[in-house]
Amino acid sequence: MAYKKTEHYDEKTTAGLIENYREVLNLVGEDPQREGLLKTPERLAKAMQYLTQGYQLDAAMIINSAKFHEEVSEMIVVKDIEIYSMCEHHMLPFIGKAHVAYIPNGWITGLSKIARVVDVYARRLQVQERLTIQIKDAIKDTLNPLGVAVVIEAKHLCMMMRGVQKQNSVTTTSAFDGEFLKNATRSEFLKLITAKLD
Ligand SMILES: [Zn+2]
Repeated sequence: MAYKKTEHYDEKTTAGLIENYREVLNLVGEDPQREGLLKTPERLAKAMQYLTQGYQLDAAMIINSAKFHEEVSEMIVVKDIEIYSMCEHHMLPFIGKAHVAYIPNGWITGLSKIARVVDVYARRLQVQERLTIQIKDAIKDTLNPLGVAVVIEAKHLCMMMRGVQKQNSVTTTSAFDGEFLKNATRSEFLKLITAKLD
């Protein structure tokens, strides 16, 4: 086998989560010994560590691992980056898309690194507003570009499944810096992320 993907979960964290999730099952009126639920606390313990892996990741390290000197001064846009995050108020998912742009000032990074930086902050307990700003700041601090723009559109399961039960509302947040504070640049970016290529 030339390629093998391995997953690693911290043993102590996993054991602690398993114990607590068994208790959660009890408290919601389930029987953790029921066949279908026997391995659920373990699966959930692993899923939760996967969904919060961003705490162990460093956005600056990821960008600096693929930082190239390049005399490009055109806007670079990566759009429709999928977001799978969890709101910190209910620990329910919010899912959507991020659109990220920057105007280089001598340095660029790999396009996939932009998507990975989005994940660094999305794979934590979040509020969409902070997630947007953290992505913008990570790019600003590492590449020192002439401008950065981040727009996130997401649906929040805590609004859809409970509370006000609004299934179709989408929350949009944005963060702009540098050149993107100018109307013309910002409009060009917004046009690019809403345009259909065909
Ligand atoms: Zn929520």
